Amino acid sequence: MMSERILLVEDEEKLARMVELELKYEGYQVEKAMDGRQGLELALGGGFDLVLLDIMLPQLSGMEVLRRLRRESKIPVIMLTARDSVVDKVAGLDSGADDYITKPFAIEELLARIRAALRSKSGQGNGGPLAVGPLVLDVEKHQVTVRGQNVELTKKEFDLLRYLLENKNRVLTREALLDAVWGFDFVGETNSVDVYIRFLRSKLDDAFGLKLIHTVRGVGYVIKEE
Ligand code: CA
Repeated sequence: MMSERILLVEDEEKLARMVELELKYEGYQVEKAMDGRQGLELALGGGFDLVLLDIMLPQLSGMEVLRRLRRESKIPVIMLTARDSVVDKVAGLDSGADDYITKPFAIEELLARIRAALRSKSGQGNGGPLAVGPLVLDVEKHQVTVRGQNVELTKKEFDLLRYLLENKNRVLTREALLDAVWGFDFVGETNSVDVYIRFLRSKLDDAFGLKLIHTVRGVGYVIKEE
């Protein structure tokens, strides 16, 4: 399989270098742009599978890059926001960003977001269902089955399960799950994740005698075959 190409538009050199190394280590091809104008040019040049776009950039702001890029391209874009600003996130998502991540971020969380964005991009083409063991989640039909038997899930349970499956075999922190599934409109405690994990376990693992959702002590959760 050809490795996916990521464009990183980030003017903080140290951060850009660190992210570039990590992405390359994961097997992605990476190209960097240090300002908005160069970033837009490269992004429009095509050939990339995903763009990581800082908001505070010289020449052209990340928002402006995103607006101009969206006139011509549906490429997945993950915004890198400098602070935990709801305004930035809302504006970014309104302008057509697929996701955002707040600096400073853990590299594992960024990698999880990238996999999810790439996955939903390719999912639009082939609509392939997500699966682990006998569990199948069909995004388009909004349906979950175990050994062909229907399982009723609430919206949040479904979203949580989907995100776990998009990152199958990867340990996800509570914070990453909370951010991805509940988003920035969430106000409350990270133990919501634990509560919903319990719901999923009871409807899936317990009901069917499986062990798919695993706790990683002190870190978070992972979905994988026993
Ligand atoms: Ca910046």
